[in-house]
Amino acid sequence: MRRTVADMTNSQPTKVRTALVIGGGVAGPVAALALRKAGIDVQVFEAHRPGTGSKGGPLTLAANGVNALRLVGADADVAAEGTPTPRMVIHSGTGKVLGTVETDPALPAAFTVPRGRMAEVLQARAEAEGVPVVHGKRFEGAVDTGRSVIAQFDDHSTAEADVLIGCDGIRSAVRRLIDPAAPEPRYTGLVGLGGFIERRSTDGPAVPDTGGAFHMVFGRRAFFGYVGDGNRTGWFANLPVKRLDRDDLHATTFEQWTHRLRAAFADDAGPMLAILDHVTPDGFIPASPLEDLPHVPAWSRGRIALVGDAAHATSPSSGQGASLAAESAIELARCLRDLPVPEAFTAYEHRRRARVERVIAEAARTNQSKAAGPVAARFRDALMPFFMSRFATPERTAWQHGYTIDW
Ligand SMILES: Cc1cc2nc3c(=O)[nH]c(=O)nc-3n(C[C@H](O)[C@H](O)[C@H](O)COP(=O)(O)OP(=O)(O)OC[C@H]3O[C@@H](n4cnc5c(N)ncnc54)[C@H](O)[C@@H]3O)c2cc1C
Repeated sequence: MRRTVADMTNSQPTKVRTALVIGGGVAGPVAALALRKAGIDVQVFEAHRPGTGSKGGPLTLAANGVNALRLVGADADVAAEGTPTPRMVIHSGTGKVLGTVETDPALPAAFTVPRGRMAEVLQARAEAEGVPVVHGKRFEGAVDTGRSVIAQFDDHSTAEADVLIGCDGIRSAVRRLIDPAAPEPRYTGLVGLGGFIERRSTDGPAVPDTGGAFHMVFGRRAFFGYVGDGNRTGWFANLPVKRLDRDDLHATTFEQWTHRLRAAFADDAGPMLAILDHVTPDGFIPASPLEDLPHVPAWSRGRIALVGDAAHATSPSSGQGASLAAESAIELARCLRDLPVPEAFTAYEHRRRARVERVIAEAARTNQSKAAGPVAARFRDALMPFFMSRFATPERTAWQHGYTIDW
């Protein structure tokens, strides 16, 4: 028999019947699919019109994320857009292999997809399941009447439901509504840029097929990742930038970025310069600051709650942001299936907070290694093989990758 959250807390559920989901990235469509699975009528509101959001660089969905998508029937659609990447190989700037991380063969293989494409596919899946996804509606505010929530959008339209779920990402407007004093995203000291290179008929691929491996290089001055299937190469770079000037970041041209990247990786072993030779402006995602949110004190208020980056953004170094967003979306739907508001929101936070904050903290430590100076980098390269062989094993990473939701 299905064990519900209410059974575990001896509470009688008072059914939430309708929900508004703000944001159509990862958390939004997954929350919509899971809420529907829980018998709740749901609508998604996304600020961008179709095709106007960022295409995004490579995003790797870890085994726990694949398992979460499987619960809502979206794993196959997303996997069809990507390249299986069950292995991560870590290199030093001198070309030495520092370690290899394999997905536990008992778990679904991780795969890598264009970040923006993942959101489009998840939205399409939600629509195929009968969820209305309304584009071009930017959430601006909401009134919690105590019995329902009325959302207001930038086109002066409104929508009403029993609850409102903020899946509107790291700069969440819903988070500010719940708590005007909520923390702002924290800059990690790194900027990220990258993209995809399609093989043209006239030349070879930017890198040969990497055979399911995502290679990561701790270069002397910056960090680089690449994966290729022989036709398409996904790549990203993380550059340490101590004093961030956002205007300067936006004003930097494609040519200036590629010049900077070539200089950053000029002395490192690996195919970085060869890959950069193939980069064109259309497949290039310009630099943005990498940020996280280590602790958002309030995840909900009244009939409004947060899911995904809005509540718990990890920096990309964890490779877990999308997976955690999907997990949290499903867990929230499960709690709303079984418990009345606000108990559902309390149970949801109780089940999620420690896990997501642990991942965010680990990623913050990885960021320090990526921005290491020359002395620290020598220690890192010397010690990493030992730590990787001890701590990057399927057993040691099972808490992250082996996590499943007991729907
Ligand atoms: C460079 C980079 C690389 C990454 N690599 C990985 C990786 O390899 N693996 C991984 O798991 N994660 C990765 N991540 C993290 C991952 O992208 C996020 O954790 C994930 O997208 C979070 O999903 P979300 O739905 O919470 O937020 P988002 O995906 O940001 O979606 C939020 C959505 O809300 C919409 N929105 C915002 N404001 C409003 C509003 N007011 N009204 C209506 N809609 C609104 C936005 O347009 C957007 O569509 C990476 C992130 C970055 C920046």
